[in-house]
Amino acid sequence: MGLLIRGGEVVTGAGRCRADVWCEGGKIAKVEKGIAPPPGVEVVEAAGKLVLPGFIDPHVHAYLPLTTVTAKSNFANCTRAALLGGTTCIMDFAGAGREKDFDEAWAAWEAQAAGQASCDYGFHLMVRRYDAGLQKQLERLVAKGLKSLKIYLAYKPALAIGDEDLFRVLEFAAANGLVVMAHCENAELIPALQKKLLAAGKTGPEWHEPSRPPMVEAEGVCKFLTFAAAAGAKAYVVHLSCAEALSMADRFRGKLEHLYIETMIQYLTLDKSYAERGNFEGAKWILSPPLREKSDQEALWAGLADGRIDTLGTDHCPFDFKGQKELGRGDFTKIPNGIAGVEERMALAYTAGVAGGRIPLERLVAVAAENPAKIFGLWGRKGTIAEGFDADVVVWDPAARRTISARTQSLDTDYNPYEGFEVAGAPEVVTVRGEVMVRNGKFVGTPGCGRLLL
Ligand code: MN
Ligand code: MN
Repeated sequence: MGLLIRGGEVVTGAGRCRADVWCEGGKIAKVEKGIAPPPGVEVVEAAGKLVLPGFIDPHVHAYLPLTTVTAKSNFANCTRAALLGGTTCIMDFAGAGREKDFDEAWAAWEAQAAGQASCDYGFHLMVRRYDAGLQKQLERLVAKGLKSLKIYLAYKPALAIGDEDLFRVLEFAAANGLVVMAHCENAELIPALQKKLLAAGKTGPEWHEPSRPPMVEAEGVCKFLTFAAAAGAKAYVVHLSCAEALSMADRFRGKLEHLYIETMIQYLTLDKSYAERGNFEGAKWILSPPLREKSDQEALWAGLADGRIDTLGTDHCPFDFKGQKELGRGDFTKIPNGIAGVEERMALAYTAGVAGGRIPLERLVAVAAENPAKIFGLWGRKGTIAEGFDADVVVWDPAARRTISARTQSLDTDYNPYEGFEVAGAPEVVTVRGEVMVRNGKFVGTPGCGRLLL
């Protein structure tokens, strides 16, 4: 058993070199020039190709049962789509607001993923309230290896956390070295603005963005980082969407020892004109925070390039248009929030970012593999190509060209938010712990072989 990836250009967050990658026992055993394959082992010829670490998506909803609707996703189809796109590790969020406590949430997500996920996966824990009993459960989960918590400032009453509990969670996190991730939008302003718009007869999807404009997100960033700085916690702003929120985060640099910012591929490649399409079609692009202006895209690319933005994820959370997005006909506040992206992220980022001259490939590898691994405690196993790391490898063909379409996507949703986008570059071979999972755009691995990372 073993796998030799021969003759490619190995690219990590730190640099690049021409080298062979020898994988054995699920790990990368050697990275050097001219490795002779022992007889009988599989050789992947990678001449002319890029050899990249398996990508990590730090923010995915493979399973998300919300109060009114459940995302059209499960661990089987989500991880398969991830692998087809070059992502070998996803991080989901245990808890969706309906579970009675952390143990129940954790057990539910473990049960959903076990034997279903085809790539490795981790969980952040969703926290919406805090008391002595819950703290005991948290302590046990931390002892098991939990590294990160997720809180929502928005979505009252289902998900949002109150100020008092927020501070206690941040103090617990600070004392235990956990990262606290936050959805940053003001909880009170959104319903107030929604009400005002609906009362004025503004009911279509194009009014979603005006109901949660950049200042509402910037205020959320300010509040979260103020609390995190006061508690001394590691803070991670999820899915930052716009220049205004990024400038707000910049004001906190130096006030927090650990401040991480995540953006999403949709904020880099789509803008709010999609959500303004007529005949309710705009509902296909409703997510929160909303899609913004084109000028925000450039601000986010600049933040990725200069290091102010640390990670690139998807917030993958697909819905059908028919029967799901349609729940919000006549009332944009009832449109389920979320879009797919786990399959498209790396091709879109490679096309717009690397081929488009906005960020070097090494930087893309850093924000989509190395940094998520370092922030969430996976470094040493995931995030780069080096001896001793898991053999999660993507052989990337920079010359591949294709057009994204719902007709060819792996998910069974009835539309693709990137329909018609022409992308450059594609994963040709994808491995997880040395097993070939994708070859020439086809899933060829053992379904359900993914492992929970703790
Ligand atoms: Mn969110
Ligand atoms: Mn999310």
